Amino acid sequence: MLRLMIVSILLALAACSEQPAGNSEPAAANNEQVQNRGADKDKWWDALPRPEWGQYEKIEQSEDWFEVYRIDDDILAIYEPGQFEEVISFLIIGEDFALMFDTGLGIGNIRRVVDQLTDLDVVVLNSHTHYDHIGGNHLFDTIYGTGLAYTTERAQGSAPEAVAGFLAEGWVWKPLPDGFNADTYQSYAFDIDRIVTEGDIIDIGGRQLEILFTPGHAPDSICLIDRENRQLFTGDTFYLAPLYAHIPGASFEDYMQTAERLARLAGDIDTAITSHTVPVVDGAYMTALGQAFADIAAGTVMDVTLSDGHREYHFDGFSVIVSDTP
Ligand SMILES: [Zn+2]
Repeated sequence: MLRLMIVSILLALAACSEQPAGNSEPAAANNEQVQNRGADKDKWWDALPRPEWGQYEKIEQSEDWFEVYRIDDDILAIYEPGQFEEVISFLIIGEDFALMFDTGLGIGNIRRVVDQLTDLDVVVLNSHTHYDHIGGNHLFDTIYGTGLAYTTERAQGSAPEAVAGFLAEGWVWKPLPDGFNADTYQSYAFDIDRIVTEGDIIDIGGRQLEILFTPGHAPDSICLIDRENRQLFTGDTFYLAPLYAHIPGASFEDYMQTAERLARLAGDIDTAITSHTVPVVDGAYMTALGQAFADIAAGTVMDVTLSDGHREYHFDGFSVIVSDTP
């Protein structure tokens, strides 16, 4: 009897995971572990589709897990709206080669997407090596990375337990891709072919991307600045949702210095290109980011919510989550 019940539950779970897109709500939304990156923790997918994406040309391609949008002549955003992180990877196309800034969750096969978007050689560079940004690294031949110990460790791959949370109940509303095996889902090891450092300029042909080391969210967080086109790729250092200064490996002090630095760059950019929820925001947010960290440090932010060991400070369009335990 017990076994029959378990089988029924498993069948029910399997049925849930096969619901077609657009007609789906995760089963019981017991998603207490969801760290709120979207608007509403319990029904985050209600915010989708986010209207900001509507202004960009959608590029057709074969992999349903991803959506691809042209946000600039030579910048394509590869978006994963089916999973709570709503992570965005960017394919930046030059005259000589293309740079992939992050490779997503590793749930869908992002290489198959990229192969439909460019015939150029592709170099991968990660905004940082959290697992939701390096999932497809192993599918590519050439990877640039920092020489930091954090990067080296992440490049060794993970056990399935390290990423299982990305598939937890309430975290995914889209059908998982055909052939994807949730039981063996993990972050696969990859080799770093070239070490990058602060101030390096990657010239992809017709576009120069300068690397800024911007630790805080993660020890190996970087931003890319394209000074000629006045664009800053922020990775997870900034986006329009809660910013994570509280997770293991994050450093509030480092993040504050990074925020100060990016605020000083606000006059050099028009847009910030961000890695979660929406792809492009006004560059003036860098000023707001610097001010936000300064105000948190000064203890002058009134709009703060408290939860199990964290404080979330609220600002116009974003928030910052800080750990209570140093
Ligand atoms: Zn991250």
